[in-house]
Amino acid sequence: MIPPPFDYHRPRSLAEATGLLARLGEEARPIAGGHSLLPMMKLRLASPAHLVDLGELAELRGLEIGPARVRIGAMLTQREIVASEPLAEALPILRETALRIADPQVRARGTIGGNLANGDPGNDLPAVMLALDATYLLAGAGGERRVPARGFYAAAYVTALEPGEILTAVEIPRPAVGHGWAYEKLKRKVGDYATAAAAALLEVEGGRVARCAIGLTNLADTPLLAEAAAAAVIGSELGPEVLAEAAAEAEAITDPASDGRGPAAYRRKVGGVMVRRALEKAWARATGRGPAPGATP
Ligand SMILES: Cc1cc2nc3c(=O)[nH]c(=O)nc-3n(C[C@H](O)[C@H](O)[C@H](O)COP(=O)(O)OP(=O)(O)OC[C@H]3O[C@@H](n4cnc5c(N)ncnc54)[C@H](O)[C@@H]3O)c2cc1C
Repeated sequence: MIPPPFDYHRPRSLAEATGLLARLGEEARPIAGGHSLLPMMKLRLASPAHLVDLGELAELRGLEIGPARVRIGAMLTQREIVASEPLAEALPILRETALRIADPQVRARGTIGGNLANGDPGNDLPAVMLALDATYLLAGAGGERRVPARGFYAAAYVTALEPGEILTAVEIPRPAVGHGWAYEKLKRKVGDYATAAAAALLEVEGGRVARCAIGLTNLADTPLLAEAAAAAVIGSELGPEVLAEAAAEAEAITDPASDGRGPAAYRRKVGGVMVRRALEKAWARATGRGPAPGATP
């Protein structure tokens, strides 16, 4: 379908962009890679009268990898996330996750900021940001503010973004050297959104899990932080009972829809399987000892 008519604006600075969005009001939407917004416009699920293109904003393009934190500009594409070696070294889970998004064509245009700001529970990067305890940097005509990823998602397509605000960057505390990570995603085919997916990050000290965080994708209206599941593995050697308990704790907080990807009960179960697999892989990476005891094939 052809989208409804709109006016197109291409500001040259962040100040110009936030000024434009404030002046044009709720009829205006920012556009980044366009790979979520344009399909919605073509389906007439969105019909903004004005598109404000973020493509020329140098302020949204930086990548800073510091000793304690990483700052990623909102306009970095998913392809750039995959391609950056320093980023993969600091935050390997980002490359693993970005590679599971759609296909190379989508990743060439789709941005990290668009993926995080969109609010679609099927987007893969938000659950990873919950697990990483990232902070989003937002800018509007009234100034700048910081919002934790863990407080950003309220419902499907409802986020902490106020009208006219732009997500400029995401700031992520660097996980410890030697941490384990994994993003496990079940999808029906290449290019599909997740039936269910899980991000796991953990640190092992003295042969036991010392710290852990788990995020879930497409298992509710919003990405989920599976706190009880993570608590279940802390202090353990990640044996079979612990893995089963973590999967059950994760399943308990999910509320997936029945849709083309399967009935809710199936998707919930797949969520538990993804948690188990992500934990096993993260453990193996952290310990260098191969799959955890009781690992599922
Ligand atoms: C065929 C196909 C398959 C896909 N599969 C997946 C998948 O498996 N997993 C996945 O995660 N994604 C998937 N996507 C979506 C893709 O990752 C999008 O690129 C991403 O969701 C949005 O990023 P974008 O830069 O294209 O944003 P846009 O489409 O330009 O914008 C999306 C929304 O975010 C807003 N927005 C964008 N940037 C900002 C910003 N900086 N500040 C404030 N608001 C902003 C826009 O106003 C709009 O509401 C798929 C897309 C397609 C077309």
